[in-house]
Amino acid sequence: MKIKIKDLGEFQLTPGLPLKFLIPEIKKISSKLPIGFKHNQEYIDWHYSFNEKDLENLELEPIFTSDEEAFIFLRHTASHVLAQAVKELFPGAKLGIGPPTEDGFYYDIYYEKPFDEEDLKKIEEKVKEIIKKNIPLERKEIPKEEAKELFKNLKEDFKLELIEELPDSKVSIYSQENFIDLCKGPHLLSTGEIKAVKLLSVAGAYWRGDEKNPMLWRIYGTAFFSKEELKAYLDRLEEIKRRDHRRLGKELELFTIEEDIGPGLVIWLPKGAIIRNIIENFWKEVHLKRGYQLVYTPHIALRDLWKVSGHLDFYIENMFPPMELENRAYQIKPMNCPFHIYVYNQKRRSYREFPIRYCELGTVYRFERSGVLHGLLRVRGFTQDDAHIFCREDQLEEELIQVLDLVTYFLKVFGFSEYKIFLSTRPEKFVGSPEIWDKAEAALRSALENKDLEYEVDPGEGVFYGPKIDLKIKDVLGRFWQCATIQVDFNIPERFNIVYIGEDNKFYRPIMIHRALLGSLERFLGVLIENYAGAFPFWIAPTQVKVLTITDRTISYGEKIVDILRKEGFRVEADFRNEKLNYKIRIAQQEKVPYMIVLGDKEEKDQVISVRTRKGEIINNIKLEEFINKIKLENQPEYLLNGSS
Ligand SMILES: [Zn+2]
Ligand SMILES: [Zn+2]
Repeated sequence: MKIKIKDLGEFQLTPGLPLKFLIPEIKKISSKLPIGFKHNQEYIDWHYSFNEKDLENLELEPIFTSDEEAFIFLRHTASHVLAQAVKELFPGAKLGIGPPTEDGFYYDIYYEKPFDEEDLKKIEEKVKEIIKKNIPLERKEIPKEEAKELFKNLKEDFKLELIEELPDSKVSIYSQENFIDLCKGPHLLSTGEIKAVKLLSVAGAYWRGDEKNPMLWRIYGTAFFSKEELKAYLDRLEEIKRRDHRRLGKELELFTIEEDIGPGLVIWLPKGAIIRNIIENFWKEVHLKRGYQLVYTPHIALRDLWKVSGHLDFYIENMFPPMELENRAYQIKPMNCPFHIYVYNQKRRSYREFPIRYCELGTVYRFERSGVLHGLLRVRGFTQDDAHIFCREDQLEEELIQVLDLVTYFLKVFGFSEYKIFLSTRPEKFVGSPEIWDKAEAALRSALENKDLEYEVDPGEGVFYGPKIDLKIKDVLGRFWQCATIQVDFNIPERFNIVYIGEDNKFYRPIMIHRALLGSLERFLGVLIENYAGAFPFWIAPTQVKVLTITDRTISYGEKIVDILRKEGFRVEADFRNEKLNYKIRIAQQEKVPYMIVLGDKEEKDQVISVRTRKGEIINNIKLEEFINKIKLENQPEYLLNGSS
């Protein structure tokens, strides 16, 4: 029978024989051997065999090690090697599942006691041994009953459970030496094709994620086709750890989340509060300049308000439960929108007033399960940089352009210039007419095109009340973070029955845009911390300059310098302690203070200062005024925009 392989040609193969019998033929015509194949979204490895009847219009697409999908073959195989190693070292172990993941693979394994660091080392050694032996893999399809018998004899209870649930009458098993695993594949030809492997960690995981089931140990690892790639990956992991905002938040005394106060509730410590205050002030200033009006609204409202707004219908599971006072029920706000509707409704509105833009740094509370909470990135109480724009249909596109202009401005100011933008369109269930949806979607599209922003469309992923744009920012490590969202809403204006008087004296319904640009201050600060690894740009650094004395003799000179800088409006700290200079420098560097001013007898005598940056650059003997002029420039929020970082 004939096997077609894209770009490589047609090959003769005896039915029932695995594809690997073609290797000598393929080697004759191609120096590069595929790692495996793909057909109809299914992966097929060299161990696969076909019958004549499978072959109609079958053309296999080859996958090479340079393809992203090759990792699936590699990491599937690596997880089997891991399982084999564990079974050899800990014969009582029972296997759960062992899939590849985005960055590596894991295997859930039951054992009478947890695996510790020492065990992990031993297992990794064994894994490497198995790889070195370059053991070929075999694939077999056997009847379900036979598979049950097999895994029963192997005492693999979890596998038995899985087999029971498989719909087909036959199941596939892979083996290497004495090790057998139930698996759909795909895999490599032999264990030796795994060129680099590393076991990373162990964590408890309930069988099938259900806490009523036994606890298994999930061993995480990763594998690559070269040692260099593995090293690059591990370096990146280290870098991610180094930048973790939870760790830096503690070290730099920015914020804390205390179990005694409540999960997901953030306390801003003085240094974090300063950063937040700077960002808030800047945010307000920019919004006022761009025609927004600032409002403040309460944190709770009568439950009935949330009935009218629809939150009790479609958002209830994200809300904190109601509380009773004087026989009336109140509820904490998960969103600011209904309040802004009341601001709008203070007066009869005319078409001439539009657009109306209300903005608020509004603190909201949403219920998130404790399991998903994560530092500042996933919290239960947070402050949205929220705004609601009311406009006419003919103004929608221009307003969206303005919002996109504002969001890209903000993000660039904070050092983010690469984004991923998603436009989510009409879902199956929606309110409003299809015509208005089409118009709004068209307005969102042309606004994006007007701003020259590339975007992807998520068809049908809009919220039921209107289409939206989501924007993710790219950080220095190439990670994307969801921040801005811009949503058109046809629902809330309807629910609250808000209107304006048009040119013809008739009533019309305004269009409402919800938008948050940074997302929430908590989340944005978390991303900022990780992006800068805590070494913030000068204008937001909690302490901008630290004055260090070399000896006690220069303390009064130091005090004078501190005084001048403070009067100029800079955030300055002094370290006049009787400690070695190197020690003081080290502390200031750990605190990621942008500039250290070092003062000794010589500096005082010449009435100059010596400056050291947190990166270790040194400028000796400059005039204080000269330094002040330099840092005044850096203290501008737009400093990064001008490209001089
Ligand atoms: Zn497998
Ligand atoms: Zn809103």
